[in-house]
Amino acid sequence: MRELQQEIRALAREKKAIILAHNYQPPEIQDVADLTGDSLELSLKAAQTEAEVIVFCGVRFMAETAAIVCPDKLVVFPRPEAGCEMADMITVEDVEALKAKYPKAPVVTYVNSYVEIKAVSDICCTSANSINVVKSLAAKEIIFLPDMNLARYTQRFFPDKKIYFHEGFCPFHDVLTVEEVKKAKEAHPQAVFMAHPECRPEVIDLADAVRSTSGMLRFARESEAREFIVGTEVGLLYPLKKQNPDKEFYPASEKMLCKAMKIISLEDLKRALETLSPVVRVPEDIRKRAYRAVARMLEIPRS
Ligand code: SF4
Repeated sequence: MRELQQEIRALAREKKAIILAHNYQPPEIQDVADLTGDSLELSLKAAQTEAEVIVFCGVRFMAETAAIVCPDKLVVFPRPEAGCEMADMITVEDVEALKAKYPKAPVVTYVNSYVEIKAVSDICCTSANSINVVKSLAAKEIIFLPDMNLARYTQRFFPDKKIYFHEGFCPFHDVLTVEEVKKAKEAHPQAVFMAHPECRPEVIDLADAVRSTSGMLRFARESEAREFIVGTEVGLLYPLKKQNPDKEFYPASEKMLCKAMKIISLEDLKRALETLSPVVRVPEDIRKRAYRAVARMLEIPRS
């Protein structure tokens, strides 16, 4: 494996490529990457580098986001079939129907969505900044998509606004139950429970901290606690442990495993670097409209 990783690093240098890996990717992919993090963070860092090529190890909407914010770079995505089950739950027709029903409500779209959906949205958000994004809007009614759990979590902070949501969800966060969390807390009574806002409301109610993946990494680093129950996709346990070798991390549920996030192998990555393909291409008119929604979000501070 080590030899293959060295070959990949040599190829990346030769092709002037930067390898980006999402926090949920398998450990051997995270270890060979130039940068790891959440999808937006990765694309924004990539936009600032000299690299001519971005190889994205994640799922399709993430590679698309890199293509939206880095139009001058070649974005290579080793396994195009790696989709996102939540992003698949909404169509442009669904968005148009919501707009027709609530014509005064601006559309806030979670970045975990395909480019066509971003292109018909007013502003994007991440799981780290959804509250600040909604706060920035004067409107009293908001359409929020595609994740109903993130929408309901965000709604908690705005008693004076009404958030209408599309009933999409991440199957690998929504699967976590109250019973599983209680069981994990009983097994690890000293542990702090961190939940991702894609979890169900009743699970959020049990959380000591509600954080995005980057937020969980920061929280674990800064916290004085020694043990943590992790309520997000199990891939995050690897960077958590790597960054905090003296702390213990337990998955809230082994069922929180996104298969699409584990598709890309080191062999796929090597082949993608050798051939500089498959490439993600976004039609320019759609890219420009999607970029408007992303750029509007970027003007708002993350927290
Ligand atoms: S963990 Fe959920 S939101 Fe993330 S890529 Fe997988 S299905 Fe999509």
